[in-house]
Amino acid sequence: MDKMNLTDAEWRERLTPDQYRVLREHGTERAFTGEYNENKAPGLYHCAGCGLPLFASETKYNSGSGWPSFTAPLEEESVTEVADTSHGMRRVEVRCARCEGHLGHVFPDGPGPNGLRYCMNSAALDFEPKQD
Ligand code: FE
Repeated sequence: MDKMNLTDAEWRERLTPDQYRVLREHGTERAFTGEYNENKAPGLYHCAGCGLPLFASETKYNSGSGWPSFTAPLEEESVTEVADTSHGMRRVEVRCARCEGHLGHVFPDGPGPNGLRYCMNSAALDFEPKQD
């Protein structure tokens, strides 16, 4: 996938402060505060940084964690996964494959056949409702 590389100044201009803190500074929004935590509408979740489609509502489920949770990305190549040992934990960070924005983490305790929970920040996502 072609990467999208912007300067820090361009990211600051393009993103809201919340989006910037999560996507570019690896921030985490507080649990149960994100716009999409309880969103059950059908549609697609795009990267708030670059617009790449990342997750479909069909894979979203209520994990009880307080963050939007999915069992799988839209396409395997939509996201990249990076080992993250910050904050004294061993976790796997999930990034947008195109702009490398930080999205959240993936944990091995999901309910689906692959047993994964993609724990995302609402601020990193942009929801597009399905048109009918
Ligand atoms: Fe992106």
